[in-house]
Amino acid sequence: MKKQENKLWNKARYSLEKHYKYICSNPNSKNSKLKAGFINIGIGGIIADVIGIKDIGNHFEPKIEIIAIEVKENLPNYRERHMDQVRRASVFAHKVFLAAPREFKPEEVELAVKERVGLFELNPEKRKLKLIVPSPPFEPSESKIIELMRRLDFFKCTVCNCYWNKNLITIDGYRSTHVFSNNIKPLRFNKFICDKCSSKLFKLHSKDLSNKFAEEWKVKRINKKTEKIDLRTKKLAEKKDISKINDRLSKEDEKIKNMRRYFKELFNKRLKSLNKQLNKVRRGLKSI
Ligand SMILES: [Zn+2]
Repeated sequence: MKKQENKLWNKARYSLEKHYKYICSNPNSKNSKLKAGFINIGIGGIIADVIGIKDIGNHFEPKIEIIAIEVKENLPNYRERHMDQVRRASVFAHKVFLAAPREFKPEEVELAVKERVGLFELNPEKRKLKLIVPSPPFEPSESKIIELMRRLDFFKCTVCNCYWNKNLITIDGYRSTHVFSNNIKPLRFNKFICDKCSSKLFKLHSKDLSNKFAEEWKVKRINKKTEKIDLRTKKLAEKKDISKINDRLSKEDEKIKNMRRYFKELFNKRLKSLNKQLNKVRRGLKSI
C-alpha cells in the first residue's frame, strides 16, 4: 500500500511542477531528499506528502505561496478523518489538498467543502492533477512559513523578505544570530541578510563614512589654513624682531655720533688752548 502511495506522490509532484508551476524540489541542495523532491516532508510532526512553493508577490513585495497535498491510495470512501489530516498542513501551507486516483463522489465533494480542504483527482497514467474543489485560502503564521522554508533549504532575508536558496548563497550572504538576554533565559533568533541587501547596507554605511571623511577633510583644510596663518604671523613677529634690532642699531648709531661730537669738541677745545699758548710764546719772542 505504502509503495503504491509513494509512486502517487511523485506523480502528484510532477503535475504540481508541470501544470501548476510550483517548485517541488531543490536541485541545488546537498540533501538528497530535497534534491529528489519536497516529498514526505514538514515541520513539527505535521508531514505532507507533497509540498510546492510559488512566488505570488509583485514588484514591490515578494510573497511565497505554499501548497500541501495529501495523496491517498484508492479507498472506497474518503472520510472526515482523512480531510482532518489534510487540513493540519494549513499550519504552514496556504492551500491544502487531498489527492486521490479516482473520481470523487458527490458526498465527498460536499464533505471537502465543509471540512475546508481542496480536492485533486489524480490521473496516474497522465501524471496529472485535475482540480475538483479549490482549497480555501489559509494564512499560516510567518514564523511557520520561515521554519518550513528553512527545512526546504531556503533562507528569508530579514531586510528585503526575499527567499534565497541556502546552497547558492555566496560568502557575502550574512547569517547572524541575535541574542537577547533577560538574565533568566537568553533568546536567540537566527537571522539572515542576503547578498544584495548586505552590499546595499554596506554602501549606505560607507556613504556615511565618506560623509564623515568629507567632514574630516574640511577640518583638515581648515587646519592647513590656520597653519598658514600661523606661519605668516610668525614671520611678522620675526619682522618685528628685525625692527627692534634696527631700533637698537640706530640708537647705537646715535651714541656713536654723540661720542664723535664730544671728541670733536674736546679736540677743538684743546686746539684752542694750544693756539693760545702758542700765541703767548710768539708774543714773548717778539718782545725779545
Ligand atoms: Zn535581502
